[in-house]
Amino acid sequence: MTTTRCLIIGSGPAGYTASIYTTRAGINSILVEGLQPGGQLTQTTTIENFPGFPDGIDGNELMDRMRQQAIGLGATVKPDIVKSIDLSRRPFVALLDGGDTIEADTVIVATGASAKYLGLEDEKRYAGMGVSACATCDGFFYRKKVVAVVGGGDTACEEAHYLSHLASKVYMIVRKDYLRASAAMQQRVNDTPNIEILYNTNTVGLFGDNGVQGAHLVRFKGTGQEQFFDIDIDGFFLAIGHKPNTDFLGGQIDLDEGGYIKTDGTTTATSVPGVFAAGDVADPRYRQAIAAAGTGCRAALDAEKFLAANG
Ligand code: NDP
Repeated sequence: MTTTRCLIIGSGPAGYTASIYTTRAGINSILVEGLQPGGQLTQTTTIENFPGFPDGIDGNELMDRMRQQAIGLGATVKPDIVKSIDLSRRPFVALLDGGDTIEADTVIVATGASAKYLGLEDEKRYAGMGVSACATCDGFFYRKKVVAVVGGGDTACEEAHYLSHLASKVYMIVRKDYLRASAAMQQRVNDTPNIEILYNTNTVGLFGDNGVQGAHLVRFKGTGQEQFFDIDIDGFFLAIGHKPNTDFLGGQIDLDEGGYIKTDGTTTATSVPGVFAAGDVADPRYRQAIAAAGTGCRAALDAEKFLAANG
């Protein structure tokens, strides 16, 4: 059993910033890294919109630097996963995958969000055999091949553009008749000759003997004019948004209708006093690294204030 004044769960920009702030404030804190150390930025390419890096910075390097900064200041970073946490008693008690238990006076939840899937059986069937939710992780395997990216947001456009440099052709499968992405991203996609956008199109299934060889699609789904057709592809990439990682909380904290942790609006306080939320797990709106880092700072200051007020 380990005890801490502040347990930080998650190792993205929110978690590391919270760790830096609590450590500098002299609060004994432990950061538990979680399933994907470094978080979502470790799966992206160059980050051009994080201030302080005029030439951009690789996502893995940025996260490594945050980790080094926290550890350099004296933070405790634990490579483990919080399986469950009891928020009904004080101190709170977290059970880790490795078997350890941590007692904590305050908790900062910074567990981020994970990629969503369409829910097709074929996504499971071809997992690791042509289906991926991370173009920057797996794009390398599709050099000179044909791939499809599902989604019409910024992520989908970014992934399609990234893949267009590797693959011979990239389809974008977009369920509406427009892209939701920012104008700049749309422009980039439209200016790329080997990206073809299939509007008003949904995926029904995937086919292939030893891995994905194609997708069954339908145009104008749910209307009287449905058109079924197939495309030949080698890779199928999901880019349809993310689900906040809150399952381990077991319903003990109030969530909004999208599953994001509700905070009180002006602070990072959740429905449980002493528990704070930072980063994408509580941010359905902005979901940016710099915004996550900002809320990590706020959560640390909120935890510090709570500890001071509660002895
Ligand atoms: P978004 O929620 O913005 O977009 C999701 C896309 O997937 C939409 O086109 C949506 O379609 C589609 N979609 C959702 N569910 C399904 C489904 N079941 N079947 C088919 N299509 C589906 O998510 P993103 O991950 O793209 O972006 C999240 C946030 O991060 C946004 O705020 C975005 O701006 C930001 N971001 C910023 C970047 C940058 O600035 N460099 C890069 C990446 C993301 P529909 O439109 O019909 O709902």
